Amino acid sequence: MFQATCAACQTKGEIAANSGFFQARGKYNGLPAYKCTTCGVGLYVSNPGRAMLTKRAKMVLIPAASWTRMSEQWKQMFPED
Ligand SMILES: [Zn+2]
Repeated sequence: MFQATCAACQTKGEIAANSGFFQARGKYNGLPAYKCTTCGVGLYVSNPGRAMLTKRAKMVLIPAASWTRMSEQWKQMFPED
C-alpha cells in the first residue's frame, strides 16, 4: 500500500484494497490510475517504480477530457462499480 494525496482536494489516504480513499481505475498512459472518492477526479501515479520503495505515490491529475472518457469506458466494463 502507498500513501497518497489527491492533487485536487488534498485528501490524504492510502492506496490499498478497500482503503476507501482511492479506487483503482486501470491505467493512464501505462501508469496506475485512480479515482479520488472525495472529489471524484482522476489521478495517476507518476512514480510507480519509486513508490514501491518510498511507499509514497505521487498523484497527478488526469486531464478532464481523458478522465471523462476513461470513466465512461469503466462504467461499461463495470456497471456496478
Ligand atoms: Zn480529491
